Amino acid sequence: KPEILKMELEALSKNEEFARVAVVVFMARLNPTLEEVDDVKTAVSEAVTNAVIHGYRGEGGIIYLEVAVIDQEISITIRDTGVGIPDIKQAMEPMYTTDPDGERSGMGFSFMEAFMDQVEVLSAPGEGTAVTMKK
Ligand code: ATP
Ligand code: MG
Repeated sequence: KPEILKMELEALSKNEEFARVAVVVFMARLNPTLEEVDDVKTAVSEAVTNAVIHGYRGEGGIIYLEVAVIDQEISITIRDTGVGIPDIKQAMEPMYTTDPDGERSGMGFSFMEAFMDQVEVLSAPGEGTAVTMKK
């Protein structure tokens, strides 16, 4: 039977750390290694930041965080109801970014894929985005 954590966060940059810490505390029951903790932290941070700045364009909204732990696996879903992604495959390519002022490197999805075992993105323009990551 999975153990589940569900949270709703305002899409503010300062809540990125809160989401990260909540997931780490919740996953402590798996007795993860420090490396595993760091990997999950990075992945959560990238997904939440994307929801704040891309999904909601920095204008705010609700981020839905769901974590499920079953056996030795953790599944994390970060969902927004923001603008959505028109072309998911393209968005996930390394160095692809829609950031207009060149401050972003377009590596968020690449980090999520590198640090987690599985990353699945569901998205539709005008409906929002859900990123599910497993490890
Ligand atoms: P970096 O993460 O390196 O700061 P980035 O955010 O642009 O740069 P990715 O995280 O890989 O790079 O995301 C790639 C692109 O996918 C983004 O530029 C954006 O266009 C789109 N995207 C990602 N997440 C979302 C989201 N939640 N809602 C809408 N668009 C998104
Ligand atoms: Mg990003």
